[in-house]
Amino acid sequence: MKKVAFYTLGCKLNFSETSTISRQFEEKGFLKVDFQENPDIFIINTCSVTENADKKCKKIVREAKKISPNSFIAIIGCYAQLKPREISEISGVDAVLGAAEKFRLIELLDDFAVAQETKVLASEIQEATAFNNAYSINDRTRTFLKVQDGCNYGCAFCTIPLARGKSRSNTIQSVLESAREIAATDVKEIVLTGVNIGDFGIVDGKRNERFADLVYALDEVEGIDRLRISSIEPNLLTNEIISFVARSKRFVPHFHVPLQSGSNTILRKMGRRYLRELYVDRVTKIKTLMPHACIGVDVIVGFPGETDELFLETYNFLNELDISYLHVFTYSERANTRAAEMEEVVPMKKRNERSKMLRILSEKKRRNFYNENLGKDFTVLFEEDVADGKIHGFTENYIRVAAKFDPMLVNELKKVALDQINDAGNVEVREPEMVYEKH
Ligand code: SF4
Repeated sequence: MKKVAFYTLGCKLNFSETSTISRQFEEKGFLKVDFQENPDIFIINTCSVTENADKKCKKIVREAKKISPNSFIAIIGCYAQLKPREISEISGVDAVLGAAEKFRLIELLDDFAVAQETKVLASEIQEATAFNNAYSINDRTRTFLKVQDGCNYGCAFCTIPLARGKSRSNTIQSVLESAREIAATDVKEIVLTGVNIGDFGIVDGKRNERFADLVYALDEVEGIDRLRISSIEPNLLTNEIISFVARSKRFVPHFHVPLQSGSNTILRKMGRRYLRELYVDRVTKIKTLMPHACIGVDVIVGFPGETDELFLETYNFLNELDISYLHVFTYSERANTRAAEMEEVVPMKKRNERSKMLRILSEKKRRNFYNENLGKDFTVLFEEDVADGKIHGFTENYIRVAAKFDPMLVNELKKVALDQINDAGNVEVREPEMVYEKH
């Protein structure tokens, strides 16, 4: 029995896909093992957004070769689609598969025999038109369920459409089948995953269904305690969806909404499909209906043309906005994007300074959000996340909670009263022993 190990870089989508590909291997009789357990085959799922993707990829290949010198190494993922030739030249790599090929890996590579020549099986991205269903089952608590792939937007800084292709989706019926399979396991929470999930509904280039209808249908699936919409573009987060989440017992009050810049000048240069006024409107709508909702924000600093004044616009905009945390990205040039050709490049030192300022702001926002919710009751889903005698989990509105460790709490939903923020920045439950069952 051949042993296979997986390594994943990047986003939830990559994790869901690695997990699905690993199940394909298991179904074919391969034994899935950890990276350190002398595998015969390594599958490395790469990301193009990760800083220094090339260096990371080389490092993982080196590590793999140290562990199993005679192993077969295949590279898949966004970076493999963008730079197949470059990757094929990394010493130790046996195969590179693109977006249209990665789900047919076992069929295409067949015997996984190490050969002199590196196999490069990466079609042009236009060929990646099929939707491949995927969901992760790595830990018992939460699953990333892929409902959509690719993107038709073409933001100036983004390589994802080049790496993943056009927007395409699963059908509602097929998502429901996956959700029912997941419900039959012990998993308590499904996180909907995709590149641009609000654009859900395109099959074979035609829009057939709507994301809102997917949300309604999933809400009816028995056996799933929690559903989380992960990241959704502000222009696609409609009042209809927000109002439904406010009424739903299963969809949790947590939204992650990319903003990217608080300056309309920069938003236009980025080619984003909204202005800051729309973003304020979305936040206001969410907070009016769900005052306790958590709102996470993606923001990029140092985009070309972001002067000190324009950065301050972003800073002040975020400072005044009722949001809960930021994911800050320092802009870096990516080949074959419009932004890489733009002038008024921001020096790296300034990009880093701005990133630091926003990270500090994020901490302040998170703390304020946690503080606002102290004294209230929430439901925590405890995870296998234990440190210093404490077990951790997240409330429905994404507050990270710490309670006294009890093995019986793992993968359980419990009602808790939030007490105080501890030194690690998590919220302690008032009396851990007072944790009581959800009804
Ligand atoms: S919406 Fe923009 S940033 Fe997001 S994946 Fe599409 S092109 Fe990239």
